[in-house]
This record gives sequence, structure tokens and C-alpha cells, in this order.
Amino acid sequence: MANKARILVTGAGGFIGHHLTRALKAEGHWVRGVDLKQPEFESTGADEFELLDLRRWENCQKATRDVDQVYNLAANMGGIGFIESNKAVIMHDNVLINIHMLEAARENEVDRYLYTSSACIYPGGLQDDPDVTPLEEDQAYPADPEDGYGWEKLFSERQCRHYTEDYGLETRVVRFHNIFGPLGTYEGGREKSPAAICRKVALAQDNDEIEIWGDGKQTRSYCYIDDCVEGLQRLMDSDHRDPLNLGQDRMLSIDELVDIVCEIGGKSLKKRYDLDKPTGVRGRNSDNSRLRKTLGWVPQVTLERGLERTYRWIRDQLRKQGRIDD
Ligand code: NAD
Repeated sequence: MANKARILVTGAGGFIGHHLTRALKAEGHWVRGVDLKQPEFESTGADEFELLDLRRWENCQKATRDVDQVYNLAANMGGIGFIESNKAVIMHDNVLINIHMLEAARENEVDRYLYTSSACIYPGGLQDDPDVTPLEEDQAYPADPEDGYGWEKLFSERQCRHYTEDYGLETRVVRFHNIFGPLGTYEGGREKSPAAICRKVALAQDNDEIEIWGDGKQTRSYCYIDDCVEGLQRLMDSDHRDPLNLGQDRMLSIDELVDIVCEIGGKSLKKRYDLDKPTGVRGRNSDNSRLRKTLGWVPQVTLERGLERTYRWIRDQLRKQGRIDD
């Protein structure tokens, strides 16, 4: 973007919000970060960082004052284990955040508002085969999203659309497909599969056995954080008002993902499959046709390169804690 803007990033204490804040600052924008917590692994790059609970209306009013753009990333969320066992609180918190944030952005006359949705909004019935057909944006309806988390995301997508139609608020909606990278949660229950696998491999000794959730045949695509942050800014600056996938379109199984991480870690490990653990849909991939056409761009960082950086960062964290000494 040529002009320097005043930008609010919510969820700026979280994984994607923290990276986005740094990237926006590097572009010369003024950034206010808002979250319930400070970033966990390094200090924020924001000009101003406010600890606010965005479930509360008056805090959303405060957060959106005097800004041109809002990237609304704040959400109560985590990996599949977390979202499958916390549906009520996830829907409660995220509906409140997104309803209040949109209305506050309108009241404070924000120019542009970007909402971060998820591939979890796509119908379950389209994703019951590991060899799944990549998901196109228009396939979101008829709706049958992931229970809890996915329903809230789809509802909030709709509300963005209605604020554009009824009030003229410029909204952008992105559907992320498994974003990963350094400075993300890697343990504690909210971590996603790439971070969890990197942690398990880093902690294992050569020839150990590691636990895999499910039978290892479920498939996904994974997008590195630098591409995510670039795609977010490109979408915000574009004229595209409809939801847009943002992810890689290289699909692989969890088994294959584990093999790549083992190779990066230089370890040969056995897999123990826990079939009682939640795994989500059987297969999921992003169709990037609209992304390519709309933004003239697609994610660039290879999975191997992204995983290498992520593995190295997680291994270094574990080393600092004295949990590995290789
Ligand atoms: P994250 O959990 O690291 O960040 C979310 C942040 O929101 C956290 O720092 C959390 O403290 C904050 N938050 C939660 N409740 C809040 C509240 N009441 N008030 C203020 N802040 C609050 O998650 P992330 O991976 O950075 O995800 C960012 C956004 O992208 C979320 O909306 C998420 O649903 C969406 N998303 C992420 C992925 C992914 O693969 N990471 C995939 C699909 C969608």
C-alpha cells in the first residue's frame, strides 16, 4: 500500500496478529495492537498495545477509535482437540467479539475491515475422503460447517457481508487453511498439528515412538506465516469483497507431514496411532483459482522450507528450557 495508514490489529498478542503487526510496521504504518495478552515469545512491534477484552462493547469502541483499517483476528481458538471440546465458549466469545467489533468499526467510521475466517466453514460432506477435491469459495453453501467454531465463522462472514450491503462498510473476508510458523503455540492444548509434530519430533530420541492423532491418513494443506501475512495485506488493499481462500494447495497426509519433519530433525521415528483422538474432517485442500485471479499472487514458501524454520524455532525453545540437549 502506498499510503501510510492507522491500523488496528486485534489478536495482536496471538500468532498471526503478532507477525502481521510486525509486517505492517515494516511497511511504515502506524499500528495499534489489542489483545487479552501480550505476545508470548517476543515483544510487540505495535506503536500502541492495549490489553482489552473485546467481548465487551465499550472495549471495541475504544479499540476502533481513530483508525483507518481494522484487521480483526481476535478469537478464542486452538487446534482440533480444543475446538471440538469447547464449542459453547468458543461460540459465545467469538460471536460477541465479532458482532461488537463490526458495529464499533461502523460507528467509528473505519474505512476497511478485514475478518479472519477459516476453512472450517466448508461443508463436512465435501471433506470425507482423504483424496478430497480442493474447496472453492462458492462451495460454502448449502452450509454444514465444523460444529461450533465453523458455524460462528460462517455467521460472522455473513455479518460482514450485511454490513457492506446495509451500511457501505468495506469488508474483506479471508478463509485461512492451516497457517503455521515460528512464534506460534506449540504445546498446552491449543497448538495445531505442524507445531505439535515439530515438538514431538524435537523431544524424541532417534528410533523412539511418537503418538499420531488418528490413523495418519487424513490430509491437509499448510501455509507458512510469511505468505499468510502477505496475503492478508494484499487482500485488504484489493477491491475483493467476497470471502477468499488463503492457503497452500499442496495436500499431504499427516503421515507424510511427520516424515518431512523427521527428515528435517534427522531422526528415524516409529508412529503410534491413537484412533480415539479428534482429527476433524478426513481431507481438506484449498482451491487457489480465485486467489490467483484476484490478487495475482499465491503463497510462495515451500512446505519444507517453512517446516524447517518452524522446527528449528521450536527445538530452540525446548533447548532453552533444558528439555533437550542435542
Ligand atoms: P491465536 O490464538 O494465536 O490468536 C488469537 C488471539 O486472540 C489470542 O492472542 C487471544 O488472546 C486473542 N483473544 C481471544 N479472546 C479475546 C478477547 N476476548 N479479547 C481480545 N483478544 C482476544 O490464533 P491465530 O492462529 O493467530 O489466529 C488468528 C485468527 O485467524 C483467528 O481469528 C483464527 O480463528 C483465525 N484462523 C487461524 C487459523 C490458523 O491456522 N492459525 C486457521 C483458520 C482461522
